[in-house]
Amino acid sequence: MYHKKSLEEVPIENISIWSCENEACKGWMRDNFAFESAPICVHCNSPMVKSMKMLPQLNNPNKDMKSLKKGVQI
Ligand SMILES: [Zn+2]
Repeated sequence: MYHKKSLEEVPIENISIWSCENEACKGWMRDNFAFESAPICVHCNSPMVKSMKMLPQLNNPNKDMKSLKKGVQI
């Protein structure tokens, strides 16, 4: 495991993603940006499957919106 301090200190996380079922295609998207149902690959229109990928953490505005909605009492 690497333990060196680089200029970019972005934490890497194992993040759930959707990856294209087509092995010839490298299309994938973060689960955060996907819809509730299985998305279709924007590159080849193949169905996409849930997968995991090591990615730097993002401050996702979508997430903030979700938590905001949860906090609102109707
Ligand atoms: Zn694809």
